[in-house]
Amino acid sequence: VEDSADTRSRTVPGACFFRIRALQPLVRPTLVAQSESALALLGLSVQDVLTDPLSPEYLSGSRLLPGSEPAAHCYSGHQFGLFTGQLGDGAVMYLGEVESAAHGRWEIQAKGAGVTPFSRDGDGRKVLRSSIREFLCSEAMAALGIPSTRAATLVTSDLYVSRDPLNNGRRVPERCSVVLRLAPSFIRFGSFEIFLGRDEFSGLQGPSAGRLDIRAQLLDYVIETFYPCVQRAHSNRKNRNMAFFREVMMRIAKLVAQWQCVGFCHGVLNTDNMSILGLTLDYGPFGFMDRFDPDFVCNNSDKRGRYSYQAQPSVCRWNLARLAEALGSELDSAEAGAILDEFMPTYEAFYLSIMRKKLGLVRKEEEDDTELISDLLHLMHNTGADFTNTFRLLSHVPWPAEGDIERATVGPIVDLILEQCASIEELKVANEPTMGNRELAMILSMAQTNPVMFGMVADTAGVSQQLERMGRLKDLLETDQDELKIKQRDDWTRWVSQYRRRLARECDGTSDLSLIIKERLSVMNSTNPRVVLRNYIAQNAIQAAERGDFSEVRRPIVSRVLKVLEKPYSDAFGLEPSGGPIANEQTAYDSKPPAWAHRICIT
Ligand code: AMP
Ligand code: MG
Ligand code: MG
Repeated sequence: VEDSADTRSRTVPGACFFRIRALQPLVRPTLVAQSESALALLGLSVQDVLTDPLSPEYLSGSRLLPGSEPAAHCYSGHQFGLFTGQLGDGAVMYLGEVESAAHGRWEIQAKGAGVTPFSRDGDGRKVLRSSIREFLCSEAMAALGIPSTRAATLVTSDLYVSRDPLNNGRRVPERCSVVLRLAPSFIRFGSFEIFLGRDEFSGLQGPSAGRLDIRAQLLDYVIETFYPCVQRAHSNRKNRNMAFFREVMMRIAKLVAQWQCVGFCHGVLNTDNMSILGLTLDYGPFGFMDRFDPDFVCNNSDKRGRYSYQAQPSVCRWNLARLAEALGSELDSAEAGAILDEFMPTYEAFYLSIMRKKLGLVRKEEEDDTELISDLLHLMHNTGADFTNTFRLLSHVPWPAEGDIERATVGPIVDLILEQCASIEELKVANEPTMGNRELAMILSMAQTNPVMFGMVADTAGVSQQLERMGRLKDLLETDQDELKIKQRDDWTRWVSQYRRRLARECDGTSDLSLIIKERLSVMNSTNPRVVLRNYIAQNAIQAAERGDFSEVRRPIVSRVLKVLEKPYSDAFGLEPSGGPIANEQTAYDSKPPAWAHRICIT
């Protein structure tokens, strides 16, 4: 720990934590929204925070909670594939921990609380729009049943900072805002990478030193505190560490499978954003897919698509390999390699088991299920189907019955699915090459002159994807529109029929059919969310809040959106028609996103 008041941006040698000596209070902090369930983890009620006039100060790190010893954590990491040396909490202040018998132990952080030595060029602040996105998505993920850091409150203020040039190059001042976020721990893969190439740590012994170096102590702390079962099961340290690494691998494999199955893209899967507890951590330019596209990239700065939707599993494996490297001699490298080799099969198994639930295939597992699923995704991609809404609709596919006339029976559900697909015009726009013509021409000419080089470049520059898009675009342009529509309907009818034949095999003839049908419905409707935090929903809330909606007496829009996201599987939660841009536009959270949703660009 470095204990000083010097927050100038710099390398802090030999310290994993920096004690924050002076707070940087917000100007007139105001509570925008709070999560009842997250507050409860701290033993607080909504009433508690609403009635105490000082609570916006406490909840934003503008005033110190009794007993709090604020600090900034120093970590490191690989960003976009490159080792970056010291990173650390550049905009986050650790406030301390709260422990109770009922809810366990929660670490509290104020995100956006000001500069630390790890802020580099940043100002240590967060603006309202990024804070609304983190606040809503943390709670939405938790409600979806996906491991995540939590967000208890959102506070904004009359302190302003300017961010990226927004309007014609003019920098627009935005309100500094703070999310109070919670997790059992915010330790990340990067927390272990800080020891790489930093000689000053070797042999350094912390306060409870004994004979262990600081990396070993951090590892002990993590395993003893957060992996008590692993700790208890092993008396041999090396074996314990291997079991721990395997458990982290399993948690990450499950986490990324859950992301894939709701169409969530993290956006910045750097090792410093990988939680050692397997939580979704650090909500920035994340995005839920609207139309299904395996190459979906939610982070507009990620030009090469390193963190695209379909890259997420392999990226997570890559990040686990960096963790193994950072743990170094704490692991046996051959055994660590074997555990890494288990990652993809483990991920595939989790993915397949969730996907089967999404299709309501709960009674038996068939080998061809994998193909049924990939056919569905392929079709969704080709027809620009909305990921969330299409899956939610599948529970309406009628159970096969004797004497069904197939086309007539599946007609209505195919109509509903087609309503969730993109129009031919929209598909053309969606398949326009994202790479400039000149860049593409250059790379293609390389294919002729130097095929080996082309292979290398094509992979990293996503050229094969570009060529696929061009192929699809060509089809769209060359085929008669009416013919295309008929083809899409035929393709969907065929898939739905194939799906129904598989459904029929769920029933072996001896069990009660009505029970199976009921079970299918309940499994599907608790695995296929009706509503996720789409970018346009977040955007609506942001725009309203930026206009000052947060200060109104009526329930502000952020809280109304939160209320819907807290019950993502329920049919009962529509939107209250109480004004605000969403109601005005006549869009509900569970309908097909408006056209402008596809033009939102998050960096
Ligand atoms: P991220 O891409 O959000 O994971 O952040 C990467 C690094 O930048 C981390 O070390 C952050 O603490 C730091 N950082 C992010 N935002 C700010 C900010 N507004 N001011 C200073 N540092 C920041
Ligand atoms: Mg981060
Ligand atoms: Mg961030």
